[in-house]
Amino acid sequence: MDILQLKIYGFAEDLGGSSDGFLVDYIINGRSFLEMVRETELPYAIKNQKPDLAGQYIGLSPEEVFLPGNVLLNGGVIEWDGKNPILTCPGCGSSLCWGIFARLDIQENTVTWGEYENIHRPEWNYKKLRPFVFEKQQYLAALQPPVQGIFICPECGSDKQALTAMVETSPNENDPWSSVLQYDYCERCGYPIPMHLGERWDALSLQDVRNEWVSLYRSAKTRPRKLPRPKRLPGEHWGADLMAWKAKVADSSDPGRLVGR
Ligand SMILES: [Zn+2]
Ligand SMILES: [Zn+2]
Repeated sequence: MDILQLKIYGFAEDLGGSSDGFLVDYIINGRSFLEMVRETELPYAIKNQKPDLAGQYIGLSPEEVFLPGNVLLNGGVIEWDGKNPILTCPGCGSSLCWGIFARLDIQENTVTWGEYENIHRPEWNYKKLRPFVFEKQQYLAALQPPVQGIFICPECGSDKQALTAMVETSPNENDPWSSVLQYDYCERCGYPIPMHLGERWDALSLQDVRNEWVSLYRSAKTRPRKLPRPKRLPGEHWGADLMAWKAKVADSSDPGRLVGR
């Protein structure tokens, strides 16, 4: 049996003009699904002389994939030939514009993913990306939303903390940071993240946390300085989240431009 985990890996800002949000990748048997799709598509993309097109997708939102969201249980509103979108367009967020559809076969004891398809590239063959068969109980457990107390950076979606700082402050109602006694630095983006946001205390949703971070804490003059963002090592990459950032700076009025359609 294959093992599924859902992992928030990045963040897309203002995709298609709607509100910004987190993105989720599927980790299957310990490997990124986005990365497996990229590998599978690369020979075709090279043949089309557009190697960058391979794996040019983003994951779905936490609201869509974590329970009670139900896209991964065939409950999504968009489908194609009875298949559900599991990756979508980095330019506009619409899976019909550019995306990967898969047939999700939900049985009493198993869930099988297969028949992957990019509807705009019918000649791309995903046989190398074999069907995945999950045990139903494990699958449903993987769809549980991240629990309170587990760090997720509201700036970039990373789950890695670099170090924790504890400070003494004197309360000042004009300074949101004056009530932050503990914060974690995010290892990836380097921002100091107030612990109550990073760990989503008081049942804050991911979106609440994002909104509070952006509106109150990030731009405050009193915010502790960022740590330098670590340099990437040769060959290392941070996954498809970088594409989402690229999408952010691309002209959103012409999403097709990004994927070269
Ligand atoms: Zn698009
Ligand atoms: Zn971060």
